Amino acid sequence: MSRLDSFIARMQAQRDCLNFLKPRIDALPGPILEVGLGNGRTYDHLRDLFPGRDIYVFERKVAAHPDCIPPDDRLFVGEAREAIPKAAQQLGATAALIHTDLGTGDHEANMAMGKWLGPALDALAGPGGYVLANQPLDVARWRRQPEPPGVPQDRYFLYRVG
Ligand code: SAM
Repeated sequence: MSRLDSFIARMQAQRDCLNFLKPRIDALPGPILEVGLGNGRTYDHLRDLFPGRDIYVFERKVAAHPDCIPPDDRLFVGEAREAIPKAAQQLGATAALIHTDLGTGDHEANMAMGKWLGPALDALAGPGGYVLANQPLDVARWRRQPEPPGVPQDRYFLYRVG
């Protein structure tokens, strides 16, 4: 598989996971959290999927497409490790969906980040909510869910909050 094939497959899987979650999230109260704005592609998709829903975004340095920058009062700018606990004080454990897409191609760094990221996000995760992550996260009260149809194993990690 070329790097282009691999990139396309990753983007398709990401979209398939978000689309799969749509009816499940519609049935839950609470905001949606986008952790890692990047270009704003998945943020834009979430806006399309969930019009009118509160979507809060975490990003260390906003550099998204100008059409995909959230309003100031929905943005937590800064290092996620510090911004997530601050957001938890404001929002509590209420999120219906947390989509996290942090990290780089550095596997070791991603694994190290996963150790603090899961517990930090748990403080924001509402009961019965979902967490979709681009890396494995280990939180005792989250239950790993099977991959949505068509999504290759272990490309994304879907959890249901207990
Ligand atoms: N899902 C996004 C999209 O569709 O455009 C792509 C997200 S991109 C892969 C990851 C983003 O997370 C980058 O913009 C990066 O600046 C941000 N990021 C990575 N580590 C972070 C951290 N520790 N705290 C805050 N933001 C971080």
